Amino acid sequence: TVQDSSAPAPPIIRKKITSHVGFSSLPNQVRRKSVKEGFQLTVMVVGESGLGKSTLINTLFNSPVCAPRAAERPRTVAIENIEADIEENGVRLRLNVVDTPGFGDFVNNEDSWNPIIQNIEQRFEAYLSQENQIRRTRMHDTRVHACIYFIQPTGQSLKEIDIELMRRLHDRVNLIPVIAKADTMSQDDVADFKERILSDLEFNGIQIFQAPVYEDDDEESIAEADAVSRAIPFAVVGSTRVVRTASGRLVRGRAYPWGFVEVDNPEHCDFVLLRQMLVRTNLEELRAYTNQFLYERWRSVTLLARGVVQDESAFMESDPTERLREERLIHEAKLAKMEGVMKQVFQEKVEMQEKKLKQSEVELYARHKEIKDGLDRQWAQLIEKKNRLTGL
Ligand code: GDP
Repeated sequence: TVQDSSAPAPPIIRKKITSHVGFSSLPNQVRRKSVKEGFQLTVMVVGESGLGKSTLINTLFNSPVCAPRAAERPRTVAIENIEADIEENGVRLRLNVVDTPGFGDFVNNEDSWNPIIQNIEQRFEAYLSQENQIRRTRMHDTRVHACIYFIQPTGQSLKEIDIELMRRLHDRVNLIPVIAKADTMSQDDVADFKERILSDLEFNGIQIFQAPVYEDDDEESIAEADAVSRAIPFAVVGSTRVVRTASGRLVRGRAYPWGFVEVDNPEHCDFVLLRQMLVRTNLEELRAYTNQFLYERWRSVTLLARGVVQDESAFMESDPTERLREERLIHEAKLAKMEGVMKQVFQEKVEMQEKKLKQSEVELYARHKEIKDGLDRQWAQLIEKKNRLTGL
């Protein structure tokens, strides 16, 4: 018995965009498949407020799909779904961007990440309920295929809040970390920061999306995949403003007294690589990994937790790697259960200790009261004595 997600779906803003994104140059085979199945790529953007998430979405779509802050939207307060049809050289694709509220707006950070996790799981849930329908129509896949995580360009270690949230995200989504507003750092600092981020992620056991490089691809594809993979975490700059460079070229970028940062110039930032990865190089991998691994893991654990017994014979006949994976999931679920029991025992012990402490507190209080009463009595006797003496 699987319930449909009861939470109201976030509002969808639909736009049609004709500007160039780059997918029309997808390898033919991928494009044919995507067009046939209906291109549905859902990308979620996550990170602290003011790091340029909305600006990057607009840069990605090359269109003001996210209203400027000051006007209609003073701040992203709820999860928003921006669905855009992109048409390029006669090919029509639908890209769905989920804009999440930034942190720092909440007193308690749990309040900012819980809705994000819930939103990801509701999308899994919606897919599961479609799978469970006896008459399956065409599956509508709204699962999050990629999660762009914005990191503040501090040049220092990752913040605790980022580690905490990424830990909760990495086994639910393809995590793609990016350094926000990379134009505020020098190229050398960006390179150092990238290394530091990667080692922090590794140290904390956070898995990010690994763009695979296939050795049997043609040279150009290998070079492209390699460039994408080496650039993670992408150092991005967002801007939809067109500026005129010293040589008179009109480019999207940010102007500074000392020069320009061009959004679409791979020598200036990794924006092009990020876009390329999403809609070109790793489009299929992002979708496949979400479907075959992230969703499947969530599904197995969820069904197990709900007590849905999987068909044993079908399980035994299944592909051995599939079986191993399922066994591992079951093992993980068991571990999680054990952890739950351990937590409960620990909680009970803490409660017992607290009770003991309370008890000694009561005893201490009684003792204190006893001493105080004694002293009060002595005080009263002394006063009485004094009065008697002065009365003489
Ligand atoms: P959000 O809260 O994460 O959605 O952030 P916004 O997209 O609203 O951007 C917050 C501010 O940062 C705005 O003033 C943007 O113009 C500015 N901004 C956005 N992207 C960049 C960037 O790549 N570099 C710089 N220097 N500023 C940016």
